[in-house]
Amino acid sequence: MPLCPVCDASVNIEATPTAPFCSERCRLIDLGRWLDEAYSLPEQKQSEDDEDEGDE
Ligand SMILES: [Zn+2]
Repeated sequence: MPLCPVCDASVNIEATPTAPFCSERCRLIDLGRWLDEAYSLPEQKQSEDDEDEGDE
């Protein structure tokens, strides 16, 4: 059984409408974290995303 990414509780995917989160609350928490990260990421960061860079 998968674990809720927010609180690590077991989630019954088939019985949980908010899967993969265990509850609406955890779904909103994760959404809030995601938005927070998106807003706090510096725009330059995108060009540093490729880890294969620097082989030359
Ligand atoms: Zn949860």
